[in-house]
Amino acid sequence: MLSKEFKTKGPSARLDEIASAANLTPEEKALFAQYGSLDSAVANRMIENVFSTYALPLGIATHFTINGRERLIPMVLEEPSVVAGASFAAKLAQPNGFTASSTEPVMIGQVQMVGIPDLKKAQDAIQANKARLTEKANAKDPMLVSRGGGVNDIQTRMLKTGRGDMLIVHLHVNCQDAMGANAVNTMCEAISPDLEALTGGQARLRILTNLAIHRTATATAIWTKDALAESTKNTLTGEQVVNAILDAYEFAKNDPFRACTNNKGIMNGIDAVVIATGNDWRAMEAGAHAFAVKNGQYTSLTTYSKTPEGHLKGEITIPVAVGLVGGATRTHPLAKICLKIMDVKSARDLGEVLASVGLAQNFAAMRALSTEGISRGHLKLHAKNIAVMVGAQGDDIDRIAAQMAQEKNVNAARAKELLEKKA
Ligand code: NAD
Repeated sequence: MLSKEFKTKGPSARLDEIASAANLTPEEKALFAQYGSLDSAVANRMIENVFSTYALPLGIATHFTINGRERLIPMVLEEPSVVAGASFAAKLAQPNGFTASSTEPVMIGQVQMVGIPDLKKAQDAIQANKARLTEKANAKDPMLVSRGGGVNDIQTRMLKTGRGDMLIVHLHVNCQDAMGANAVNTMCEAISPDLEALTGGQARLRILTNLAIHRTATATAIWTKDALAESTKNTLTGEQVVNAILDAYEFAKNDPFRACTNNKGIMNGIDAVVIATGNDWRAMEAGAHAFAVKNGQYTSLTTYSKTPEGHLKGEITIPVAVGLVGGATRTHPLAKICLKIMDVKSARDLGEVLASVGLAQNFAAMRALSTEGISRGHLKLHAKNIAVMVGAQGDDIDRIAAQMAQEKNVNAARAKELLEKKA
């Protein structure tokens, strides 16, 4: 899809290649060529008290094959090594790449009901009136319903609390290609007076949950022993690498301290794509971490096992509350084009890409950590950041970074020394 030289080209030549691979129009391409192409009028409509915009690097992860299709993955983030890590993991998973699937895009809206005299009776009344409540909620979003979405179930949960028993009503809403927060919140608000009348209680909070257990995507990939051995330049055998990664996985599975950082690494990749597509990364973060503790102990979002042939199989399942319409997905001019570059056609498809990227990112970190250590991959860009931090400019940045990387001694004191040496 992209040339072998892509990596070594400058940003503008890389843009030429991406524009041609993704069939971007000249106008779309021009938007990427302007730094901070979010103009102030657009930004001013997005949030309050806008006085400027704030640019971040936009990179592209390569070598991704997902369900047999090659995909280019735009990523927005400030951290070095993430784009390279994802691309490397995807390359090692070739030629089969990632197999991904997803559930229907169903979000849950919650209505908190308090002061109910008879909880059991209230639950029965809600169940008996499900059709009427569904109709009322759906009437709030004819556009969503016309696209096959809308409420598909209403459930209730009793909650014992320090302020008495509460009834929590769950509205299951198929959000189709929207993330759905506004749509679901509006529906919850619309049925609250009816819930009050049916239960004799008062409706308090009416808002969706980010713990989107009914809207998940799963991705799997197999990294062969040969690919794994090669990734260490055959300093280790494939079997050694598989075993080292399985040990690393057991650590993350059983220790929340490790699992937390393990999952942070997964979200490095996922958030970067979520941001590139104008989606709500706080929603993704909240959902992912809550999902990681769904069985009572915080654990790894990925799992790893050995195939009968001795290869490494990785798998991830995550909630994917993302959309192609709504929020900033259509207002941010670059978000739409990033979706085009990925060739994403539905919110479910985007969720499957996110799961694949999360798995790739995690594998990259697991492989590096359990073989040569994470610092090596970070070294070059990290060294440049340190050089900038001590005040280096222009050619000095590369000179100081290269020297520190060669010495394997990357720190601010050494960078300052090298800067002063020249001066
Ligand atoms: P939205 O209300 O802007 O747009 C969604 C609407 O688009 C749907 O309700 C539907 O009427 C319409 N639509 C058109 N074509 C559609 C299609 N193909 N599929 C589905 N709907 C289609 O956005 P939203 O998705 O309801 O809400 C997302 C926003 O809500 C994000 O900006 C998020 O940051 C914000 N938000 C999040 C939370 C949270 O995560 N807890 C809470 C409040 C708000």
